[in-house]
Amino acid sequence: MSESHAKSETIVVAADRLTAFVASIFEHKGSSADEAAAVAFGLVDANLTGHDSHGAIRTPRYVSWVDSGRVRPGQGLSVASDGGSIVVADGNFGFGQVVAPQAMDLGIERARRHGLAAVAVRDSGHMGRIGTWAEKVVAEGLAFISFVNVRSSLLVAPFGGVERRMSTAPLTIGVPTGDDHPIILDFATSAVAEGKALVALRGGKKLPPEVLIGADGQRTADPRVLYGDVPLDKVPNPMDGPGALRAFGEHKGSGLSFLLEILAGALTGAGCAGPLPRKYANNMLAIFIEPSRFQPGDRFLQEVHSYIAFFKSSKPEEQGGHVLMPGDKERIMRADRMANGVPMAGDAWAELAATARKAGLSEPEIEAALVR
Ligand code: NAD
Repeated sequence: MSESHAKSETIVVAADRLTAFVASIFEHKGSSADEAAAVAFGLVDANLTGHDSHGAIRTPRYVSWVDSGRVRPGQGLSVASDGGSIVVADGNFGFGQVVAPQAMDLGIERARRHGLAAVAVRDSGHMGRIGTWAEKVVAEGLAFISFVNVRSSLLVAPFGGVERRMSTAPLTIGVPTGDDHPIILDFATSAVAEGKALVALRGGKKLPPEVLIGADGQRTADPRVLYGDVPLDKVPNPMDGPGALRAFGEHKGSGLSFLLEILAGALTGAGCAGPLPRKYANNMLAIFIEPSRFQPGDRFLQEVHSYIAFFKSSKPEEQGGHVLMPGDKERIMRADRMANGVPMAGDAWAELAATARKAGLSEPEIEAALVR
């Protein structure tokens, strides 16, 4: 039956079943139960918040990374240099879904002690949706800023250029609100995250116009510019296509992306996206801020709330529309998908099922993921 989902038909999978299914693939690939659960949590959390680009669709690629040694099961964060409020740490090419929360725990502890802390993480596996980790920090009442790059992942052309010079380098800023509606701004500095092109390539949501640029300098929405033509039994590689993603926000976004490469790549010591052949890694400079060290009592939260109310009171552009805060969309989506399940394009499910089969899961185990 899994094969029959192979075309563009969308299926819906319950979040808990999808999490258990993805975890069991990683357990079959040699991860401990805890590690497999952490990876599956991170991936499915991206699905739940509407970022399918960073969700279960990434499983085949992560598995291929385990096979090639790009990611090492059983590894985690280790401190390379400890200056109290400034820590430089190695991810040891462990899963980003293990390394990132460890880095967050460290930063939270140091910010509580010093009021302000910075944790530089180099050589982590892919950390997925960075907002997941920002939410963890903000839930502790801290503000958070992170600059992330992807070393050796040349995907994005700079403003005015055609050839790839940058990674999709995401910027993430989180602010506590004292309630369960935190502000989480979290986006790739490419016009779209690479995974959104992957979703489009595999029959999911189409890309907006002109987010890619061909080698001929023509702007396009065709994801094959990034991947080339990829048969279903091959894991798509965004390094294979002749073109590039474009930076978001024209010259401003391109400049921001350049600086993310510097802060996440040069300041952490990990290195920027290119040009040397370097081992693939997510690198992060994360800053943790204890608001009460800046403003006494509730003064910060009071100002945040009054400014949110003022911001949202702007007359909507469209009749019946709403001004959303960063993080609103993800929270609304999470409530919906927790209740109604996670939709997956048929092609993406077929690829996930094929990965599970190859990892050693039985047909009944694969079919069990689809029971609602
Ligand atoms: P996106 O374009 O969907 O933007 C998301 C941000 O915009 C969120 O903060 C969201 O709350 C806000 N937003 C969305 N719609 C809004 C609206 N109508 N009004 C106000 N705010 C709104 O994000 P993206 O660029 O596609 O990135 C997706 C994910 O990819 C992110 O979670 C990012 O961390 C992740 N990513 C990770 C890596 C990595 O190397 N690990 C690289 C690139 C991107």
